[in-house]
Amino acid sequence: MARKGSWPSGSRTGAGARGGSPRGAAVRVKTAGRRKASSTQWLQRQLNDPYVREAKRLGYRSRAAFKLAELDDRFHLLKPGLRVVDLGAAPGGWTQIAVQRVGSDRGKGFVLGVDILDMPSIAGATLMRADFTAAETPVRIKAALGGPADIVLSDMAAPATGHGQTDHLKIVALAEAAYDFATEVLAPGGSFVCKVYQGGAEGELLQRLKRDFADIRHAKPPASRSESAEVYLVAQGFRRPAA
Ligand code: SAM
Repeated sequence: MARKGSWPSGSRTGAGARGGSPRGAAVRVKTAGRRKASSTQWLQRQLNDPYVREAKRLGYRSRAAFKLAELDDRFHLLKPGLRVVDLGAAPGGWTQIAVQRVGSDRGKGFVLGVDILDMPSIAGATLMRADFTAAETPVRIKAALGGPADIVLSDMAAPATGHGQTDHLKIVALAEAAYDFATEVLAPGGSFVCKVYQGGAEGELLQRLKRDFADIRHAKPPASRSESAEVYLVAQGFRRPAA
């Protein structure tokens, strides 16, 4: 089992959104004629989510930005000048955090965001619209990178089917594909972060990570909703697997 640990008490984003306690009065959404109850619940949750409000205030494209910021605050992954590949990047919150922290908007480092969906440009990042599972995509990413990467991030998730086991298997398949690619581009000492679901199907991936990295952790950042089964695997200290 990978190790778990605690979170630092503050976030370098200065978001003040940690802990999940909404600031200000809770917003209530009236049930409207044609809107489904589930949509009303979603809207109410969005309007009352402090991370959503902070993301809007700070100009982040998604509340997910805080998940990477919190992971980085704890594990010190993103240092100025590093080269980052962000898989499953849309709408761009993780890419924005990576750009800020490696300094690629100030001429340091390099950030490449890849997603099957289109997304508007982000200053300091190179964006690629591509299905990561398509055979040509890793080749295209390597060409855009033009050298090794220090970090490969994967927040990829296929749209949820509502069937837990199916979603779990799909997310692990994407994480495994991301790691297959990471082994080809990561520099020695590099890091790999991927989203998986709590519940175990990532066993084989975990074994490979244990073999290939000095340190592996499971981490659920405070910005990850407690009702979500998502959890992140954070692997640091890449040692190239023997051929
Ligand atoms: N990290 C993002 C952020 O901070 O805004 C949020 C990522 S969202 C949870 C998951 C993303 O994975 C979606 O944008 C989805 O399009 C992408 N995705 C899923 N399957 C993919 C695939 N096969 N290739 C590329 N992207 C994929």
